[in-house]
Amino acid sequence: MMKLKNIFENIIIYLYPIILSLVPAVTLYWGSGVPIRQAYLSWITIAVMIGVLVFSINSFIKDKHKVGVIASAISITFFYFGNFLHLISSISMKLNIIQEKSIIEYSVLIPMILFICWLIFWIFITRIIIRSDSITQKCDYYLSVVSMILLVFMASGIGMKIDFSSKNSKYLESIILNSSVLDPSADTAHAGDDDQNLPDIYYLIFDGFGGSDTLSDYYDTDILNFIQQLEKRGIYVATESKSNYSMTISSLPSSLNMNYWDELAKDEIKDIGWVPVIPLLHDSLVSKYLHNRGYDLVTFPSGFWPTENFRTDKKVSPLITLNEYQENLLLYTPVPRIFPGFLYNNHRNRVNFALDSLKDIPYEERPIFVFAHIITPHPPFIFDEEGNSVHPQRPYNHFDADDYRKLGGTTAEYQEMYSDQVNYIFSEILEMIDEMLLASESQPIIIIQGDHGPGSMVSQSLFDENNLDERFSIMNAYYFPDHDYSSLYPSISPVNTFRVIFNKYFEEDLPLLPDMNYFSIIHHPYEFIEVTEMLK
Ligand SMILES: [Zn+2]
Repeated sequence: MMKLKNIFENIIIYLYPIILSLVPAVTLYWGSGVPIRQAYLSWITIAVMIGVLVFSINSFIKDKHKVGVIASAISITFFYFGNFLHLISSISMKLNIIQEKSIIEYSVLIPMILFICWLIFWIFITRIIIRSDSITQKCDYYLSVVSMILLVFMASGIGMKIDFSSKNSKYLESIILNSSVLDPSADTAHAGDDDQNLPDIYYLIFDGFGGSDTLSDYYDTDILNFIQQLEKRGIYVATESKSNYSMTISSLPSSLNMNYWDELAKDEIKDIGWVPVIPLLHDSLVSKYLHNRGYDLVTFPSGFWPTENFRTDKKVSPLITLNEYQENLLLYTPVPRIFPGFLYNNHRNRVNFALDSLKDIPYEERPIFVFAHIITPHPPFIFDEEGNSVHPQRPYNHFDADDYRKLGGTTAEYQEMYSDQVNYIFSEILEMIDEMLLASESQPIIIIQGDHGPGSMVSQSLFDENNLDERFSIMNAYYFPDHDYSSLYPSISPVNTFRVIFNKYFEEDLPLLPDMNYFSIIHHPYEFIEVTEMLK
């Protein structure tokens, strides 16, 4: 009986610190749109870390009750710091001490001071608990009970979310319209005489990459020189191009499915948040079509969950990189407050990795369709004009437009830092194109496109407070191996990009759609306001 009790005690001192430290991670998963495959590795990592912590404490403190209590206090100090900050800023708002949460949560100094107070508080509490054996035992007992209840909640929460996702995906299937543009599964009869000679296709989305009007009107950039440099390399720049939609999650599903949303999904799409991106992006018409013509799909991590997890043949990824869920999870901890550059570095490495790897894709199979969603020149601003590391003086986030300003950024800061970043990206793109053209034996098709423009004067929450020209004007450049651009025109928009390419290279006969523009706000991304006339 003694032995059994011992085993139980040994398990429980590991179990409850692990459960307590998993609560923020599981609630973050619960409240976000990320699929479970982006989250569960972090849970295992946390469990292992806390396991090692308990083991280490246990090796020099023999009282098992104390071990559990100390490990729990450490895990709460670390994993609940974000909740604590949030609580303090909510109380300060209620008491009218501050007007914006960002003053506490997105400043540099206040979180540091609060972390020191938080740390001292938990050291103090732990000392009181472990000094008295009876309090330690009581604490150990209550923590065990509470964590068992939490475990039941977490397990059922995860189960409900998985069930909800599977029901949602069935519902989605019923409201996504099967676009009749072309049959992606049709055989390769159209594919030309010799499949071996099909060109590689690079579809490179530089998030928030504005067009020449925007960049010369509002930003201090070398845009005209950049366009000249592109043209020198035989690239066609559609200088009057505007995005069809105002946000990534409306724009990319449209361009990758070659259609407008009213042709992609029924009206019910308005009510279901961001989830429609999953089927339309992860298994888009363009990918399916090319796949059936013998292409392998190559992708990169973007750091934005809707454009990760594409059905892909090869994901070219840095050895270590954090995904969006892991970045958000770290924001619960003191790490990004103590090391403000940590998450910015992670993002910078991801961008640099994609830019470098694109020069010569490490993959033998050919032909390939390369899709890269590179979150730059969109915030966060992480490069100066020469490509040196910089970042704004506030904790990491990739918010744009009015959300950028809500966290303490200004229009002037946005315009200055965006200008530097985009000037650097110009030189990187030119270098990348030169090496790409050198590296590939047969000349590829290259598309360099913004999914929408920048957002220094844009609001994603109010339609009326907007500079629509800034938001819709986009970079849209094409390299075709034969340099014959007769099928393109200056105002071509992304919805027509692959219509032109499939007509030209796969002998399809797809009609080009009128180039239209639709705005929507971030909380209702699929309730569209047509702004085509306003942009003329
Ligand atoms: Zn975007």
